[in-house]
Amino acid sequence: MSTTTEYGYNSKVEGEVVVSQADAVINWIRRHSVWPMPMGLACCAIELMAAGGSRFDISRFGMEVMRFSPRQSDCMIVAGTVTYKMAEVVRRIYDQMAEPKWVVAMGACASTGGMYRSYAVLQGVDRIVPVDVYISGCPPRPEALLDGMMKLQEKIRNESSTRGLFKNRKARELAYKGA
Ligand code: SF4
Repeated sequence: MSTTTEYGYNSKVEGEVVVSQADAVINWIRRHSVWPMPMGLACCAIELMAAGGSRFDISRFGMEVMRFSPRQSDCMIVAGTVTYKMAEVVRRIYDQMAEPKWVVAMGACASTGGMYRSYAVLQGVDRIVPVDVYISGCPPRPEALLDGMMKLQEKIRNESSTRGLFKNRKARELAYKGA
């Protein structure tokens, strides 16, 4: 018998075992690895870029991996004025993102159309995609974006990860149709 063979209770191993729920673990992973799709459409996008710099450091939240591919991102951050010309593109990119996915409306323009009460501007991106978090301001500071992203993390934490996928999608589609 080897002298290194271990029997019975091993306090080192069992002391490192964590018992939890699948929902809690999956949502913990999801909310700390949000990969944004930066939909920078106007001046708010400059503040979004600033959030990635060392001063504000969005990577503290595991969100620094900005992806310009809808297939590699799960959170669309709409930063700027959404014109009708761009609206179709925004919706198409949203459709190409895999579930689960979230949308953040950054700033007055993305949330409501802002000061542009004109024939060319969509009066809020929630008319074409379901928005999870709205961030006020013209433009919002990077701190406001980080605050909004923390709100999103809180929302993800309370979501059902295993049973909610289809339900969430259905609800999103219904919300979209009703808009
Ligand atoms: S909310 Fe203000 S800063 Fe942001 S895109 Fe609109 S006009 Fe520009």
